[in-house]
Amino acid sequence: MSRVSVKALGKTPAGVAAGQCLCGKVQVEISIPAFWAWHDHSRTSRRAHGAAYATYVGCWRSRFRVSKGEKQLTRFTDEASGDTRAFCSRCGTPVVYARGRSSRMVNLPRALFDGRTGREPLYHVAIGDSPEWAYRCEKLKPLNGYPNVMWSGPKRRRRSAALEPDFEF
Ligand SMILES: [Zn+2]
Repeated sequence: MSRVSVKALGKTPAGVAAGQCLCGKVQVEISIPAFWAWHDHSRTSRRAHGAAYATYVGCWRSRFRVSKGEKQLTRFTDEASGDTRAFCSRCGTPVVYARGRSSRMVNLPRALFDGRTGREPLYHVAIGDSPEWAYRCEKLKPLNGYPNVMWSGPKRRRRSAALEPDFEF
């Protein structure tokens, strides 16, 4: 059976994890196990993903390939850091994060892969950059009338000095 027909059946060769962007135009493969995996709370990754944090698997560049849709990728390089991020120009999914100071490694959003990558994300990088609105494992309860919606309930907020009316004359 050829590799193409194996892919058509939705199967991936042993030792390889396959991932894709939202629209499916870009597909990637890595050899597994990946080198490591982590949660990235940095401001740059937060912006790049439009999410509270991003979870990555890192692997050797030599063990990564774009199996489909290379031309669909658009790249952005942060000139200050030299970091390059590639995303699908059709659907906007972040696909590759390559750090300028680590040219032999590439980092891929864990969410591209439905299956296992051989590494659990055990590490939290730049946790100090995590925004106050990020979910911090608060206890949740069902929201009445909205199936599959949970919430943390009303919060008692201390009034911030910045929000107090200014009565000084
Ligand atoms: Zn896409």
